[in-house]
Amino acid sequence: MGLNFKDMSEKSKHTMVEAPEGFSGEGFFATKLTEVVGLARANSLWPLPFATSCCGIEFMATMAATYDVARFGSERMSFSPRQADMLLVMGTISKKMAPILRQVYEQMAEPRWVIAVGACASSGGIFDTYSVLQGIDKVIPVDVYVPGCPPRPEQILDGILRLQEIVKAEPLNRRGSEKYKELLNSYNIK
Ligand code: SF4
Repeated sequence: MGLNFKDMSEKSKHTMVEAPEGFSGEGFFATKLTEVVGLARANSLWPLPFATSCCGIEFMATMAATYDVARFGSERMSFSPRQADMLLVMGTISKKMAPILRQVYEQMAEPRWVIAVGACASSGGIFDTYSVLQGIDKVIPVDVYVPGCPPRPEQILDGILRLQEIVKAEPLNRRGSEKYKELLNSYNIK
C-alpha cells in the first residue's frame, strides 16, 4: 500500500532535531602529523619487483585480478628505483648479482623499504652453494621476510600488510636518526 497525500502531509510535520552545540559545522579530526604521513605512505607503497626466478611468478599472481594487490595501494609498478618505495626481492640471488641488487637499493630515494620474498631471498633457500647469496640481508637491510618456497600470493600480501604496519608506525625523523645511519653504515651504504 502506498502513502496517500494525507499520510505525506502528516510525515512532513516531522522536523529534524537541532544538532547539539559543539557537533555542528565542518568538524575536525585530531591526530599527529607523523600518523597522517604514515597512513599516506603505507597505503601507497609503489613496488619495485626484483624477480629472478620462481617466486617472481607468485608475485605476478599477486598482481593479477584474483589477489589484486591494488586493493592495498601497491598496483603501480616502478622499474625505476627513484620512483619506488618498496623493493620486493623474489628469487635466488647469486653472489654475482648481489652488487646489482645493492646498486638498485642505493638508487632508491628515502624512505625505502625492502621485503625478502621467499626462502631464497631470505636465506638462500635450498641453494646452500658457493655461488648463491645466503640471504639478501648480507648486502642490504631487510624490513620483512616472507617465508615459503614459493610463498603463496596470500603470504606475499601478508608481507605487504606487515610492512604497512611498520610504515605507519615509523617516526618522521627515523631516516635522519643516528640509529638509521648506523644501520646503513653497517652495510657500508652512504
Ligand atoms: S624460494 Fe623456492 S620458489 Fe622461491 S625462488 Fe627460491 S626455489 Fe624458487
